[in-house]
Amino acid sequence: MTRYVLPDLPYDYGALEPHVSAEIMKLHHDKHHRAYVEKANAALEKLLEAQKRDNFEQIATLERQLAFNVSGHVLHSIFWQNLAPQAGGEPGGSLGKAIDADFGSFHAFQSQILGAASTVMGSGWAALVWDPVLRRLATAQIHDHQGEVMQAGVPLLVIDAWEHAYYLQYRTEKDQFFKALFNLWNWRDIQARFERAQQLDLNLAEAASPAPGATPS
Ligand code: MN
Repeated sequence: MTRYVLPDLPYDYGALEPHVSAEIMKLHHDKHHRAYVEKANAALEKLLEAQKRDNFEQIATLERQLAFNVSGHVLHSIFWQNLAPQAGGEPGGSLGKAIDADFGSFHAFQSQILGAASTVMGSGWAALVWDPVLRRLATAQIHDHQGEVMQAGVPLLVIDAWEHAYYLQYRTEKDQFFKALFNLWNWRDIQARFERAQQLDLNLAEAASPAPGATPS
């Protein structure tokens, strides 16, 4: 059976210091991320068994478990690649232009995503997503790993706002952690995600905008 696989970190545990400690990176990747991958595989295995027995009650429960754990796996995999040593600054290229167009300025985008991260209730993420319906960038809060997700919205940049992401180093000062990530954003990775996301075509254009010549209601 095809299985979910824990990716290696693209850098050493200590590479993001002083902004994110080696201790956090090791626990976060080797324990937390690994657990999502293992639980996703366990849920998938049980799900395939339940499907053979037409056990629909169990299937519904297992599909929820799979959605939670696969989403945790996906978001962490993106988060590691979104970050890099000696990175940060502001993006150029088409992503920089799109951020200016959709948020007004890079500074305004920064305020929006930091606000989204700091106001997560309980566990969750803040994300910069591509909305393929209106073809625009937007910020989003993700509850747990998969709640309040726009269907087909593509995460480009994600901020882990779970306590395990910062508590050992930043304690109750989580906003300092979110700000510190701005020294680490790997805009080359985020730009590449932006370019790929724009190729997603849901064939919804007619539903999303008035047809030519239609009278606005
Ligand atoms: Mn995490």
